[in-house]
Amino acid sequence: MSGDTLPTATGLLVIGAGPGGYVAAIRAAQLGEDVVLVDEDALGGTCLNHGCIPSKALLSATGRVDDVLDAEQMGIYADPFVNVSELVDWKDGVVDRLTGGVGQLCRGAGVRFQRGTASFVDEHTARVEHDDGTAELEFENAIVATGSRPIEVPGFDFGDEPVMDSRRALSPSDIPDRLVVIGAGYIGLELAFVYARLGTAVVVLEMLDEVLAGFDHELSAVVASAAREHDIEFALGERAVGWQTTGRGVVVETEAEDGTRSEWRGDRMLVAVGREPVTDTVGLGEAGVATTERGFVEVDEQCRTTTEHVYAVGDVAGEPMLAHKASHEGLLAAAAIADEPAAADLGPVPAVVFTEPEIGTVGLTPAEATDEGHETTVGTFPFQASGRALAAGKSEGFVRVVAEAGSGRILGGQVVGAEASELVAELTLAVRHDHTLEDILDTIHAHPTFSEAVMEAAADALGRGIHTPD
Ligand code: FAD
Repeated sequence: MSGDTLPTATGLLVIGAGPGGYVAAIRAAQLGEDVVLVDEDALGGTCLNHGCIPSKALLSATGRVDDVLDAEQMGIYADPFVNVSELVDWKDGVVDRLTGGVGQLCRGAGVRFQRGTASFVDEHTARVEHDDGTAELEFENAIVATGSRPIEVPGFDFGDEPVMDSRRALSPSDIPDRLVVIGAGYIGLELAFVYARLGTAVVVLEMLDEVLAGFDHELSAVVASAAREHDIEFALGERAVGWQTTGRGVVVETEAEDGTRSEWRGDRMLVAVGREPVTDTVGLGEAGVATTERGFVEVDEQCRTTTEHVYAVGDVAGEPMLAHKASHEGLLAAAAIADEPAAADLGPVPAVVFTEPEIGTVGLTPAEATDEGHETTVGTFPFQASGRALAAGKSEGFVRVVAEAGSGRILGGQVVGAEASELVAELTLAVRHDHTLEDILDTIHAHPTFSEAVMEAAADALGRGIHTPD
């Protein structure tokens, strides 16, 4: 979908067609708004084109390699061979199907899409620069959904051939023998798994002393140890300070806190140290839209900015920078613009890491609950005691449920293990709607499934576990 005819005025202008912007645009159109959606890149934004979907496609595909090798414990032997260019073609096909689908959904809802760069001229006018020239567009309301971009480490310029950002790393032309990943956050780690499964020797350099900082240590420790089993090496407490090319590749230099310098060799490197909001392309100041100290657009709970008829959703509007948070904010903003009743707040935002095993978390950890003054009761269930997990040959990890002592109200849940990305949905529903441990225990979970582990963890918290090992 390259573009519809751009009108001179619209009810709602949405800038950015990622999961925040396109969802807001479709919902607003469903609610009767006249919507123009502008993106300088492809429909679907970072998530569909260069983020969630291509990374999950590569993780699923390369996970098959793991599964084949793992199957030896089941008496099944095979020798997988990966054709990288076919793999990348397949991944691109998945992306094309989804972005094509978004185009159809937009058309179906009556959203007019224009490829181009939009920036505010004043509070009710935007300039759109597109292939055929520049046009001005008046709007009653606007939604800024311009997303985020990868942060560059000083000295590591994404324009330099051996320095890859996640976008480039998602379309490898060959399998490097050695890869240096800078940053042990979820993007760096997911891609480390992709490359390690393809046979690349991966070293992950991290300035902090932990892998997946921000996630509960008990969860990240399970993933870090599984990563080491995949021959992913970690160098923690090492800040990347420079690099140079050598005959065969690159040498990355790091500095530890005590000043000790080390060198790490690779064919190329991936810099994944975090993402920053895109606020500089859109002329926020012209529309009177303020940003926070951390550079995000300042918004209230309905995603309204400091200019009442301009909203901001998704990565540009603050943490957590996740696609489902962006989409949910898109729905909130569309409802507010159309004067429709909507939830008063966002609610708990689950977070998932698609490593092997996966992590899924929502709400409070035991430590966070205690810090917030709750008296808690906590239940856990290890996948080692789950029939389904054992039968699948994936028995690493556990489910943990955190509840308020007495009432049993679920405050949070953490899962590390197979299908954690799916299991976290039940826990999110529970946290969002104040369900209790009893509610979960009282609900029949099909057997044999991974989801039984959630029920068993609730039973454990109530001291009524049937299958909980001592
Ligand atoms: P974006 O998707 O970034 O879209 C913003 C759009 O705005 C872009 O298309 C851009 O071209 C456009 N734009 C910017 N400025 C202008 C302008 N002035 N005019 C016109 N257009 C403009 N999140 C998850 O929840 N789960 C995951 O598994 C996950 N995996 C990820 C893996 C990777 C490798 C990466 C990089 C990210 C991942 N994310 C994941 C994060 C997710 O991609 C983002 O949270 C999500 O895309 C944010 O959506 P958004 O709509 O706010 O912005």
